[in-house]
Amino acid sequence: MKVCKFGGTSVANAEQIKKVAAIVKADPSRKFVVVSAPGKRFDTDKKVTDLLIELANAVLQKENCTEKLNNVVDRYKEIAIALDLELTICKVIEEDLRKRIADQPSNSDLFMDSIKASGEDNNAKLISAYFTSIGLPAVYVDPKTFGLVVNDFPERAIALPETYDNLSSLANINEIVVFPGFFGFTKEGILRTFDRGGSDITGSILAAAIKADLYENFTDVDSVFSANPKVVNCPVEIEEITYREMRELSYAGFSVFHDEALMPVYKLGIPVCIKNTNNPSAPGTRIVAERKINRRPVTGISADSGFSILFVSKYLMNREIGFGRKLLQILEEEHISYEHTPSGLDDISVIMRSHQLTPEKEERIMHRVKEELHAEDVHFRHEFSMIVIVGEGMNNSTGLAARAATAISRTGANIEMINQGSSEVSLAFGVHESNENKILRELYSEFFAPVAVR
Ligand code: ASP
Repeated sequence: MKVCKFGGTSVANAEQIKKVAAIVKADPSRKFVVVSAPGKRFDTDKKVTDLLIELANAVLQKENCTEKLNNVVDRYKEIAIALDLELTICKVIEEDLRKRIADQPSNSDLFMDSIKASGEDNNAKLISAYFTSIGLPAVYVDPKTFGLVVNDFPERAIALPETYDNLSSLANINEIVVFPGFFGFTKEGILRTFDRGGSDITGSILAAAIKADLYENFTDVDSVFSANPKVVNCPVEIEEITYREMRELSYAGFSVFHDEALMPVYKLGIPVCIKNTNNPSAPGTRIVAERKINRRPVTGISADSGFSILFVSKYLMNREIGFGRKLLQILEEEHISYEHTPSGLDDISVIMRSHQLTPEKEERIMHRVKEELHAEDVHFRHEFSMIVIVGEGMNNSTGLAARAATAISRTGANIEMINQGSSEVSLAFGVHESNENKILRELYSEFFAPVAVR
């Protein structure tokens, strides 16, 4: 049995949904279909999830929300009409949205999660109605009834262990199961969404729960590229990649598959295949537990901006027991997660995603580190990018770091940080954001082939 997840662009309009139906029809083992909310139909379009966020904010700010509500309902209406569906489905969708708005809980996080989740929930209802209308017997499945249980973390929930047992009963359903991505319910029955792009996570949870043979993740590209095709012209397409490699790449800039989505399938060794809804016969990229290492040590190079660095220095820091723990505890108390902590004898840098910081938080952190840890120099720096070179083949190859550093030096950019994890599957460089693209191109031509540059 296969679980197929269709992303936003795959279900953005009627034409795309027809392609989805054809893909599901073509293979009887495609019994579980996870759907996103309708995404962008063209470059400048808005995703339904973003329209829903606008709607929720308008309601919370007590603004008139009629137009924003219509913007959402009209997207479904347009799809339903073009699919020749009974318009009762649009009524169901509109009523559902109005009910969510009327139920407005006092807690804005709860409200936002509920409105956002309606995007996938209503799309799953619509798509299952369409499948049935064309003779593909399908049922919409409510994550609450079947027990997709999550923790109580707004906008970033994580599935609890009992979810897998609960959802395994879906395997007894004869029809095609159409399951909404992106959300679950706490033990108390409160709706919580995953991180943005989290329908990938739902697909993976479902694949693990029913012990699928394959998790197919349908998107709008033929495969995962070895570097961002918007920066590097025609980068190599990746045929096969390990979970570890994909995890490293999707952490920094490879948005094709959510980095949290690997865990459930990884634990059971279920392979994932990234495929293109617009070209389903292309083989796609397979994500597997192990692969043959070919002659190329590097599989992909990712780059992501939006990092900040906290620099702390204190003479004899290396001799002070507990310094690192106390420093990280201050960050923990500010609810900040960190990514890397490269250090010297008397200094340590903590690298984190900038969106977690505010000027007030920064002030508090610097003040506490100075007062409580008696550090001599404490300051934040912003606008950093992380460039990560990833490959299972890097483990045994000598001189790779030297080649990477030399390539970066050719661009004239300064390396602010180097970090190599002990698994030697990745090598990360912290650089100023303004240098990100030229470094990516230079590294790509070093490890792949000289390329024409965009
Ligand atoms: N619709 C949600 C988002 O735009 C989740 C998803 O598409 O995976 O983030």
